[in-house]
Amino acid sequence: MRLDPADPPRRFSIGFGPTVTLADCGRLRLDPDEQVTCTTEAGGEYDVLRKSWGFYATSSLNGRLTRHGLRGLLALNRLGNLFLLLVERGQETSFARYMADEGLRIVQWLDTDAEVGRLLAALDDTGSAPTTRPDDCCPICSAVGADVVLSYDAPPLGETRFDWRGAEYRREYRRCRNCGHFRSVHGMDLLALYEGVYADATYGSSGGMRHSFERIVALPPERSDNTHRVQRIVAFANRLGIGSHLEKEPTILDIGAGLGVFPWGMTGKGWSCVALDPDPRAVEHIRKVVGCAVVAGDFMALDLTTLGTFNAVTLNKVLEHVMDPVRMLARIHPLLKPGGFIYIEVPDTAAATHPDSQNREEFFVEHHHVFSPMSLTALVERAGFALVTLERLREPSGKYTLCAFVRRTDPDRGFGHELSKGAV
Ligand SMILES: [Zn+2]
Repeated sequence: MRLDPADPPRRFSIGFGPTVTLADCGRLRLDPDEQVTCTTEAGGEYDVLRKSWGFYATSSLNGRLTRHGLRGLLALNRLGNLFLLLVERGQETSFARYMADEGLRIVQWLDTDAEVGRLLAALDDTGSAPTTRPDDCCPICSAVGADVVLSYDAPPLGETRFDWRGAEYRREYRRCRNCGHFRSVHGMDLLALYEGVYADATYGSSGGMRHSFERIVALPPERSDNTHRVQRIVAFANRLGIGSHLEKEPTILDIGAGLGVFPWGMTGKGWSCVALDPDPRAVEHIRKVVGCAVVAGDFMALDLTTLGTFNAVTLNKVLEHVMDPVRMLARIHPLLKPGGFIYIEVPDTAAATHPDSQNREEFFVEHHHVFSPMSLTALVERAGFALVTLERLREPSGKYTLCAFVRRTDPDRGFGHELSKGAV
């Protein structure tokens, strides 16, 4: 066993509730089959045992541990992170207060044979799959439990009329009781959205795309969502030294470029832009009208090594269109240069507070997801990134939007980082 004390301890602040300062006091290295015992003043104790394959993190939860005054449980935080906690017998009231402050939820006590039995009964006879259907789980934080907040039996005003191939138009949004995320639930054939019909139905011919592009870029700056977006990103990049003295020819990849209005704006600020879109007509339009580099393809299927690396990657109103936004975001890791960042915009569940929420485009059928600040934070963390800033916007167009700047997690921050509330 080797103990390397940190002298002085590294101090850092964390907490969803009242902020507390923790002291990271050092590192303990155990060889296989070595054990240490952690103790409390009141006689609570638990053992950590190193094996050749890893660790026993505690002594037996429904045996030795509970006999020594510590009650194990699984708890979920608001970001969907799962923790094994050991509550000292007699400290239950203080623990309840902590749970409330931090927004923690008990998933399962593990301190008695009866509780362990209950956990086992919740597993099916293969011993692995939980009895809750994946349908019931939040796609972002994995919590079970959601309420219907909006339901439709006809397309809302202004929604693109897709060809649903005779299927009855029925859909709803369910709000996660844990993180507030809205997910769309329906049985209509989504192929209609994915086979290039999207650009057809939305813009008509490629002439329609050019017309829409020109209308948007002609908007006066104060009425343009895009002008504000470009300003936000350039200002953030400049604070990192990107696009100024440190990195004079910054590069950006825009995933899901659509009409190319955003690449056009960034090109105008001196950035070298690569636009990516799955729709061949959008790609053709961007090549002709915007003039920046364009790649045609589905980001989820593309060989990313062909794209190179970038100072910034942007996902403007993209993640709400895909079934698995965590997977999509996680694919960006190899595309970022050291010190680079990601900018994300997604529709905000705050649109549900609008008097005409039913007809708002935030809730149009193309959106599988509408994000809350908590679910966007969870998405970022689950994809292995760290949130730098998160902002609730009401854009010049009236859209309710969440925007976030995201960077790689700092590997040195360790456990403290996982608990930190970031900059929300
Ligand atoms: Zn959730």
